[in-house]
Amino acid sequence: MRSNSAVAVQVDEAAVESLLAACDENAVVLVRFLYCDTGGLIRGKSVSRQALRSALRSGVGLTVAMAAMNPFDQLQVVDGMGPVGEVRLWPDLSTFHVLPYAPHQAALFCDLYDLNGQPWEACARNFLRRAIARGEAAGWRFEAAFENEFTLAVTDTSGSFHPFDETVCFSSIAMQAVGNLPVALLQALEAQGVSMQQYYPELSAGQHEISVRHAPVLQAADNQLRARETIRAIAQQAGFHASLAPKPFANLAGNGAHVHISGWSLDAPGQNRFYDVADRFGLSQEAYHFIGGILAHLPAVVALTCPTVNSYLRLAPQTWASAYRCFGPDNREAAVRIASGFWGDPQGSANVEIKTVDNSCNPYLALGAILTAGLDGIKKGIEPGDPLSVDPATLSEAERQQRRIDPLPRSLDEALAALAGDALLREAMGPMLFSAFEAVKRSESAFFVDVDHDDTRAYFSLF
Ligand code: GLU
Ligand code: MG
Repeated sequence: MRSNSAVAVQVDEAAVESLLAACDENAVVLVRFLYCDTGGLIRGKSVSRQALRSALRSGVGLTVAMAAMNPFDQLQVVDGMGPVGEVRLWPDLSTFHVLPYAPHQAALFCDLYDLNGQPWEACARNFLRRAIARGEAAGWRFEAAFENEFTLAVTDTSGSFHPFDETVCFSSIAMQAVGNLPVALLQALEAQGVSMQQYYPELSAGQHEISVRHAPVLQAADNQLRARETIRAIAQQAGFHASLAPKPFANLAGNGAHVHISGWSLDAPGQNRFYDVADRFGLSQEAYHFIGGILAHLPAVVALTCPTVNSYLRLAPQTWASAYRCFGPDNREAAVRIASGFWGDPQGSANVEIKTVDNSCNPYLALGAILTAGLDGIKKGIEPGDPLSVDPATLSEAERQQRRIDPLPRSLDEALAALAGDALLREAMGPMLFSAFEAVKRSESAFFVDVDHDDTRAYFSLF
């Protein structure tokens, strides 16, 4: 192990000073150093104002074993992640935000660095950074946004969760029943630099949704951590329990975290390269190739975007969550939807929506996988086939086969097998991140082997 003095990490002294000043201006006494782990949980350690200058210059220690911890705090056996060894939570100072829901506290999002001051191979945020760099090398800058569906629940005297209301989709009664919650969410997100675009009650009892404005992909993943933290905290302060689990109640609609993605020119920042005015759906050839790459790798991608046992209860036909590998214009049963553009801004709003994403994902892994697959499609010119304008579940088996519309993996194990067989994604992850992810996720599957498969409520309070 090398001593810190031998390590050449770059410390931006001016940024450290201005961060410390921002703490003092906002009476911050405790700062959370957060990261999203292999299992998709947001974890971290908090540093006092007094110890902050030192922590900003040397990071915060974390045992390597945490990368092999599953969401139920069961440690898995993974090479290089045993009881010996440390990494550092290395804060990205540009992510500093005062927490509007936690007085006198702020947060930073961290990369994981090894003791030589290099990005650690198992760091999910670095996996996304590498995918971004590959995009930039090809002249691309991607923007993304997540749509967050969540369930508001209350507990009964036995401690069981129930949806808080029985209202219907987009119901104005539900808008009123949630009281100040949407305004509190909007204000809390805006205070953290995240622009909430819409709020509405969703299809299921207790289900609600917020969407946020798109941002460059690393920031979009950071924003997703902010959104998850904020939804839970603000709901709790309003007397609700918010769950972002993919399928909080087996008999009700699931919670998606659909990703909208667009590809822009690195050199001409205002140019959305996914747009083509001449195309019937307003998409460029490169955007179709991006979709082709997503579809080609989709069974493996879903291992990273729908990564819990609970996820596969959500991916059912005719629930608007998507269950088939296909794409189509405004088709809510297709895994990839070509989203119709905004009147007045067709160029700026051209994007594709990936529906096979939920909030049990690590957003750095999810966006990294989406970029890796999409860029492969662009590089190889992969054609996505014909767009589908009907619900794939209404086609006969023979028609689906003829159009090469396969069902998505039906379980976490099936998705993990697809990931193991996908050389591109495995290589992009690297052996250490891949082994940790596989071990953690296989252990989750094993955790539910002896219980009724529908009963994955253990995830309810975790996401
Ligand atoms: N709740 C659906 C899902 O699980 C999505 C509904 C919608 O189209 O917004 O993905
Ligand atoms: Mg929705």
